[in-house]
Amino acid sequence: MTAEIRHSCGLFGIANHPEAAQLAYLGLYAQQHRGQESAGICTANGQSILRRAGLGLVTDAIGPRDLTELANPLAIGHVRYSTTGSCSESNTQPLLVTCSIGQVAIGHNGNLVNAGEIRREYEHHGHIFTTTSDTEVILHMLADRQFVERPDPLTSVLRHLCGSYTLLLMYPDRLEAIRDPSGNRPLCLGRLGEAWVVASETCALDIIDAEYVRDVAPGEIVTLSLTGLQSRRFTTPDASRLGYCIFEHVYFADPSSFVFGENAHLVRMEMGRALAREAPADADLVIPVPNCARCAALGYHETSRIPLGRGFTTNHYIGRSFIQPTQTIRDLTVRLKLNPIRGSVAGRRLVVVEDSIVRGTTTRGKMQSLRRAGAKEIHLRVASPPIRNPCYYGIDFPSRQELVANERTVEQIREYLGVDSLAYLSLEGMLAAAETANSNFCHACFSGDYPIPIDPCFQKDMFEQRQLRFFDALGRVRDVGSMPSPPAADAARD
Ligand code: SF4
Repeated sequence: MTAEIRHSCGLFGIANHPEAAQLAYLGLYAQQHRGQESAGICTANGQSILRRAGLGLVTDAIGPRDLTELANPLAIGHVRYSTTGSCSESNTQPLLVTCSIGQVAIGHNGNLVNAGEIRREYEHHGHIFTTTSDTEVILHMLADRQFVERPDPLTSVLRHLCGSYTLLLMYPDRLEAIRDPSGNRPLCLGRLGEAWVVASETCALDIIDAEYVRDVAPGEIVTLSLTGLQSRRFTTPDASRLGYCIFEHVYFADPSSFVFGENAHLVRMEMGRALAREAPADADLVIPVPNCARCAALGYHETSRIPLGRGFTTNHYIGRSFIQPTQTIRDLTVRLKLNPIRGSVAGRRLVVVEDSIVRGTTTRGKMQSLRRAGAKEIHLRVASPPIRNPCYYGIDFPSRQELVANERTVEQIREYLGVDSLAYLSLEGMLAAAETANSNFCHACFSGDYPIPIDPCFQKDMFEQRQLRFFDALGRVRDVGSMPSPPAADAARD
């Protein structure tokens, strides 16, 4: 389980439904695994936009009274983990402003690699920013006269953005759902009676009984309003520019979701099967490192015919470990969360299946606890390749130096983790498991092959943002009362 990286955000939007706010709440709840630092909903009635948002989980940020006050037929919602900008009230999304074009709200999943450059330019001309998030530059651009005077201001703005983004924009009378030309993050479109729905993942459609229609295409803007749906392109589709995030399949997406046209559970099972073919082991029991590697472990078990068992119990009342802001706190919650089942593992040769390993610190702790519980042999199998590079597209990876696979051989990693054998799924094996007829994945964190060019200035910005979050987290640790409360049940995702 990759407890050391964080997703950026989850989006939900609905148009033309009398209970839009309540459905947005449920849609965000279903996607809580995509961000747990803050949540927010904006609704509109044709004339104006209302907003309710706050820090913490959806249940912390939005109460029953908020939902009553938000009663309107158009809604957008957002759950956030900050990959740029600190975790503060001012950065909670959707952001809502009143500017030269009226009220506009925005929710964003991804990272704009040229946001720093655009922001510096606007600040130079006297613009005042109220957040530290990259998303705010889009609002400044939408209100900028040079874009407002164009025939389609939004398409002109989007053509200036570089990086990874799915966006939900709300105006008083409509929503605009947008996916960047690389299609890096998922965004799907669904139908619920007369209402149209958009969401980062299909699990949000399932939860409200909406029917999946299709994915929003890379480079497409879909407008949802009280009168129906319209689509336009802001760039010509180009297969060579696609870069779907393979990590959605490795770890992020809910197993029930269809992402980039494939079901995440089935893809993970196929990764597990491929891993068993590439890296067999002589063992008595296959165990997933709960809970995220269950699908891959099932695939490994099917192909290897080694019995599948349980190696850990999970304390469902502890929050996902990576929502905690410092490594120390994360380590403590991991220990609280997983307890090895001595009766299951003592004296046995184990194949332990992980979905991915980032820093390796939590994996190492789990292997040590299996040893203490009496495991005779531990053969660690990882259902993705070694992560050797950071992500600049909206996933909060540690720096390159902190990655356990950075400048280490597999044998050196095995030694560090303290296991008897270690094997990773090959890049080819991972991509083959996820491959659809016309997909083209980003696998830069594994291969170093970045599909969207990265400006060196942006890498510097990312470093500064990471420092900002670190100091922000320190502040929150000192003020324990302001830390987000743990989710009610961590089991929701697997
Ligand atoms: Fe996803 Fe990795 Fe690409 Fe980031 S670098 S978008 S995590 S595949």
